[in-house]
Amino acid sequence: MSDITAKMRATARELLEKGEVKYVIGWEKGTFWYQSTPVFVDKPEETDKLVWDEFCLNNLAVYLLDDRQGEGKIGLFVKGCDSRGVVRLIQDKQFPRERVYLIGIPCPGLKDVKEAAALGQGADVPLAEKCRYCDHKNPVMYDVLIGEGAPEAAAEVAATAAAGDRFAEVKEIEAMDPDERYAYWTAQYDRCIRCFACRNICPACNCRECIFDQTAVGWLSKEVTGAGNQFYGLVRAFHVAGRCIECGECERVCPMDIPMMKLNRKIIKDINELFGENEAGVDLEKLPPLGLYSPDDPEEFM
Ligand code: SF4
Ligand code: SF4
Repeated sequence: MSDITAKMRATARELLEKGEVKYVIGWEKGTFWYQSTPVFVDKPEETDKLVWDEFCLNNLAVYLLDDRQGEGKIGLFVKGCDSRGVVRLIQDKQFPRERVYLIGIPCPGLKDVKEAAALGQGADVPLAEKCRYCDHKNPVMYDVLIGEGAPEAAAEVAATAAAGDRFAEVKEIEAMDPDERYAYWTAQYDRCIRCFACRNICPACNCRECIFDQTAVGWLSKEVTGAGNQFYGLVRAFHVAGRCIECGECERVCPMDIPMMKLNRKIIKDINELFGENEAGVDLEKLPPLGLYSPDDPEEFM
């Protein structure tokens, strides 16, 4: 058992025994060695389920939404990206800070589950795509930090992030002519099966009632058609504009491998160019640029 896992279990046990939280949300081992899945623990004797390993990929912040109407405090384990998700929910007034106890875990970057399954146990598994450009190894907000703060990156992550431009793939698409771009995105979204996994896993997709769950005819089509899928993809991208924390969860869970981060990052890039550099979900006091008005805002379209 890793040192962090032992500390996780001890911290969760203490919180539950003292009645400081009604349950804790962490990760447990899944069916296969390369799966670590979310778990809710509400009894001290069940805290031995908790684990920390290189497959704790799920961003747990989104599970707070299931209890947003409730009462009582929840214990939540947070990596850097999870903590940014919590900032997102607090800023969006979806969950109050005082109802969550954050147990921070420095994260060196996690492993790609599909590659792990293909390569087998003991193989050198590459970094998960969602961790490729992460520069917040330490949680941006926490009540207690388990272990030493990470040197702001494990070597592998630092090398990858330094070598990479997170907008490189966006620039490739920007270089296409409009017909090529349309063909590219049409081919991607033709595969969408409208399972809504990307929406359900997303801490920024936190509307109490999603427009795509409404039954009123006329606004949108429920059919899985090319046009309907594109409409869904665009509406979702615009709804998280300026608020997306780049956790990569939407793309990670998509069963059809639709490269949603290219769309998210195109909007992030545009917002950076229009309103100045912005990293969503890092600073609780800094509101998203599209949620603010400044007399200096660009207005070329007026
Ligand atoms: S749109 Fe994707 S990357 Fe952005 S916050 Fe939602 S799940 Fe994370
Ligand atoms: S997860 Fe993928 S397939 Fe499912 S709705 Fe989102 S884009 Fe479509």
